[in-house]
Amino acid sequence: MSEQNKNAVTADYQALDASHHLHPFTNTGALNKKGARIITHGEGVYLWDSEGQKILDGMAGLWCVNMGYGRQELVEASYEQMKKLPFYNTFFQTTHMPAAELAQEIASVTPEGLDHIFFANSGSEAVDTIIRMVRQYWAIKGKPYKNIIISRENAYHGSTVGGASLGGMSGMHKQGAPGVGGIERIRQPYWYGEAGDMSEEEFGIACAQALEEKILAVGPDNVACFIGEPIQGAGGVIVPPANYWGEIQKICQKYDILVAADEVICGFGRTGSWFGSQTFDIKPDIMSMAKGLSSGYLPISAVAVGERISSALIEHDDDFNHGFTYSGHPAAAAVALKNIQLMKEENIVDYVANDIGPYFQQKLREALADHPLTGHIEGTGLVAGIALVKDKEKKEFFPSDLDIGYICREHCFNNGLIMRAVGSRMVLSPPLVITHAEVDELCEKARLCFDLTLQSVS
Ligand SMILES: *Cc1c(COP(=O)(O)O)cnc(C)c1O
Repeated sequence: MSEQNKNAVTADYQALDASHHLHPFTNTGALNKKGARIITHGEGVYLWDSEGQKILDGMAGLWCVNMGYGRQELVEASYEQMKKLPFYNTFFQTTHMPAAELAQEIASVTPEGLDHIFFANSGSEAVDTIIRMVRQYWAIKGKPYKNIIISRENAYHGSTVGGASLGGMSGMHKQGAPGVGGIERIRQPYWYGEAGDMSEEEFGIACAQALEEKILAVGPDNVACFIGEPIQGAGGVIVPPANYWGEIQKICQKYDILVAADEVICGFGRTGSWFGSQTFDIKPDIMSMAKGLSSGYLPISAVAVGERISSALIEHDDDFNHGFTYSGHPAAAAVALKNIQLMKEENIVDYVANDIGPYFQQKLREALADHPLTGHIEGTGLVAGIALVKDKEKKEFFPSDLDIGYICREHCFNNGLIMRAVGSRMVLSPPLVITHAEVDELCEKARLCFDLTLQSVS
């Protein structure tokens, strides 16, 4: 958008934003020169900006607005609860109706055995809670030294010091290092990018084998837990080989290591099950969830705790010294409760599994698989990642000084589609309520923007 064409509202708010707002995960200096896009409102899968442009939100906000924008039921749930009780804590041997009801509602959709719920406000805080809880579990069991947590390169587990330390994002480790200790990492199961000549199956075994090697290197009796996202989201939507999680599961069982699933993106229907753990047959001892829990209408997160850990915590006659002022915040809990009820009423998980998910995956491949920029498409349900390549026959990636993902993302935004770039991967995670016609529109726009991107670099 050129300076001359901007309307006054846009110009004013860009100036205001530039003078006082530091943006997350952003080069704020560069942004201030360009001017932030001002999003004004949303309805269904669409957003509008201050220039009046209508944009199809292929990212559901930030992987979270699963039930779409403008849901009055969620707005009213929050309003009604705020009128009655806007806040009370859950520390002082007190509870309130929304927190108690939401805990039960979450337990009704989690995999069997994960029936106790601890509340926090963000995915990062839920992940921090997992770190604290699994270490406390082993301490209660008389093994305080069994405290190493193993995660993976290019994993995303949030941006608190705990979450950033646990995740495998090198750009984050470089800032604010050294972070939390007792964390080890293994390779990610990124078959298209890192498997060389290995088949998916061979690669799945090799990546799981890396876990066993790491466990043996640090000593099985020192390892508390392995944590992974069922599908890596912020790392670029990386779907592991089909045999990967089964192998990981066996290894953790062999050495008596807890399994944690970070379900912040995969949870609440994204992959066509309530949780990614169900899609990939993972048997987690503990799971973090956030984003889709409230469709992003208010911040809330939770940790679902399996019987093994919850019974140890409950039977241990002492406080668990962890929590947040807003753990189980009544208004946020009321919204999340209504959100899950709506998902059930509208059979949205079934819609993703058997209708719109397969349709989206098929249409996306029809639109983009034969495009010269498309190296590989992976995804399931309503989440997908596309590797952009310079030469698809030779599987040659673009040089790192050419930010192909950013170029593509800009074309998308300017043509009314939000697709996110993660390095040279384009990712999609639209609202779960997206219709067939909207999927068609999304795919047409994506094709057009891939063409424009190709022109930009030819
Ligand atoms: C987004 C995300 C987080 C962090 O959630 P915040 O609410 O941003 O703190 C943690 N884990 C995963 C898998 C995520 O996608």
